[in-house]
Amino acid sequence: MVLLGGTRPEAVKLAPIARAMRVQDRMQPVLVASGQHETMFSQALSSFGLRPDVRLHIDRPTGSLSELLSELVKAVDVHLEQLRPAAVVVQGDTTTALAGALAAFWRHIPVVHVEAGLRSHDPRAPFPEEANRKLVAQLSTLHLAPTARAVNNLLEEGIAGPEVLLTGNTVVDAVLSIARTPVAYHDHRLPSLENRAATGKSRLLLATMHRRESLGAPLAGILAGLRAIVEEHADVEVVLPVHPNPEVRDQVVDGLLGVERVHITGPLHYAEFCRLLSFARLVLTDSGGVQEEAPSFGVPCVVLREITERMEAVEAGVSVLAGPDPLLIARHASRLLAENPVESSSARLNPFGDGQAAVRAEQAIARLLGLTSSGPAAVPQAQLAKGK
Ligand code: UDP
Repeated sequence: MVLLGGTRPEAVKLAPIARAMRVQDRMQPVLVASGQHETMFSQALSSFGLRPDVRLHIDRPTGSLSELLSELVKAVDVHLEQLRPAAVVVQGDTTTALAGALAAFWRHIPVVHVEAGLRSHDPRAPFPEEANRKLVAQLSTLHLAPTARAVNNLLEEGIAGPEVLLTGNTVVDAVLSIARTPVAYHDHRLPSLENRAATGKSRLLLATMHRRESLGAPLAGILAGLRAIVEEHADVEVVLPVHPNPEVRDQVVDGLLGVERVHITGPLHYAEFCRLLSFARLVLTDSGGVQEEAPSFGVPCVVLREITERMEAVEAGVSVLAGPDPLLIARHASRLLAENPVESSSARLNPFGDGQAAVRAEQAIARLLGLTSSGPAAVPQAQLAKGK
């Protein structure tokens, strides 16, 4: 069983399935690193005590998407020819997911799509992910949808039947398992930052931004919004783990140079990130995964995008869409900071899952392959966001 991934969120969301397969021991997961973002993929897997079983090598002299896709298809295909897996599991909407689905489809190997059915309904945002996930859906045999809304999106595209299953998002499984593990921060500033947040001496704001649509003027607006928040709230400290994409990194560092109480770090290990998230008072992000993780800690989220395919959190009242407008970002942040923090665990029900998605995914894949006749247990509807 090949589990193919190439980026940090794929590692985070595939790791719980690899673990569930190992526990059940009826399928052997082979974790394949596509080479898209080799370091980030392996680093995120390591937080789960996992590492790639196979590392593919790709050449990217120009860095174009066409080059990436064609290199990935070639590399995955060679591997599939050698390994001949019973199925290929891909996650989400990356170029790796598209390449893996194409290569497997062409070899008549069933494709399992994890986190199927997310749609922004705008092919320009997120770009190119909205198109990637629609294309992967056309090539998949089994569609594991995180929410009822995602199931509905698939139904609307004519993708229906017993091979469309509501599992919840495996990111909730990931976050719940990782939050229990101890953390040794690599950045020497973080233990004292955590301590100040934990003892109420400061309010911690965790910020991430990496989307290519945000580069330039939108990112400048986002950074202005962050500066305004820090100026307005003297007890707020910001941790901003910057994405290694050099264009993003340069703009973020330039835009926040010398701003007091803004701590820019390198990409954090997943366990470090989750730990800080658990102490955060507010999240500002354009990341898909972070929007899904924050509700598990009862942390409200200002989404730095005009539209999101994760409307479940907006509708549950735990996320708010601000886009790149600095005034709007600062206004939403101030409002959320003024509200009482979420204390009770019942208020922390995550609209994206109940922590059992990987068990359901494992069961569904086993059924697809004829290893069992029973399908996964249903997701408790009360815990998941409604479809519309
Ligand atoms: N993340 C991490 N370290 C960081 C920032 C984010 O481990 O410094 C994790 C985060 O918890 C989430 C994932 O990376 O699970 C999100 O990745 P990214 O924002 O790159 O991609 P997206 O979710 O937008 O596809």
